Amino acid sequence: MEIIRNPQELQNLSLLLRSEGKTIALVPTMGFFHEGHLQLMSEARKQADVLIVSLFVNPTQFGENEDLDNYPNDIERDSKLAEERGVDILFIPSKGSMYYPTHSTWVEVPELAKNLCGQSRPVHFRGVATIVTKLFMTALPHIAVFGEKDWQQLALIKRMVRDLNIPVNIQGHPIVREESGLALSSRNVYLTEEEKKVAPMLQQGLQEMKKAVAKGEADSAKLKKSLTDFYAANIPGSQVDYIEIVHPENISILEKIEGPALCAVAVQVGKARLIDNLQINV
Ligand code: AMP
Repeated sequence: MEIIRNPQELQNLSLLLRSEGKTIALVPTMGFFHEGHLQLMSEARKQADVLIVSLFVNPTQFGENEDLDNYPNDIERDSKLAEERGVDILFIPSKGSMYYPTHSTWVEVPELAKNLCGQSRPVHFRGVATIVTKLFMTALPHIAVFGEKDWQQLALIKRMVRDLNIPVNIQGHPIVREESGLALSSRNVYLTEEEKKVAPMLQQGLQEMKKAVAKGEADSAKLKKSLTDFYAANIPGSQVDYIEIVHPENISILEKIEGPALCAVAVQVGKARLIDNLQINV
């Protein structure tokens, strides 16, 4: 595995690989790998000649009071894990090499960014769309794999790629969970032992909602109220950021469930802001 830090060097290499007829897959990450990241890599590995993983904690997708400065990292461990999963190139650019001090171009997908995480993280998706575009222009992949844990991000990137005619095939990968049901996340390290015991209730509550939908409840307000009560009872001290039922593709809010639907939640548990989601289609 080769480690590349310079964006220009990666772009030159990708151009060369493409001219040789090689296919390239990209998995963008912010590092501190867990099995979720690693499964994305294994999936991408199967589908291209060359697998590039980017590791960049993108400052522009963090708000002012968020955890940019404390975001966990362990590049040595990440490099080993990536190599074991068959990664060919680990791209670890510096902040300065990805953003000029005078950076002033942004990619925005307002329709898909306005709900869910976009409400409490107003600059987040502008940062995500911009960095993903820059990574696409640098790594020049044919395929890119993203996790369904960040469902809104995946939907937004699919829309962006369609709208801007970006020639990258976007693939989603199912959420990888602990046996307890807790979705793996780099931010789970912020949880105390006690919080870790109750955090799986996040998913448990979503499963309860799915059962209620299967039994015929279609009213989003009622379903959301039940889930709010469930979290209050089962995750002591938690603070719900949002519980929302949306259309899985355009992320518009659904008052009633009549077809494809996704329930997405963000809940603050101690120092960790945890997100999860579940398809609850009728
Ligand atoms: P991050 O490093 O948190 O930005 O995540 C990098 C990629 O891994 C994103 O596409 C995430 O959606 C994906 N990812 C993170 N956690 C999981 C998980 N538990 N299951 C599946 N994909 C995940």
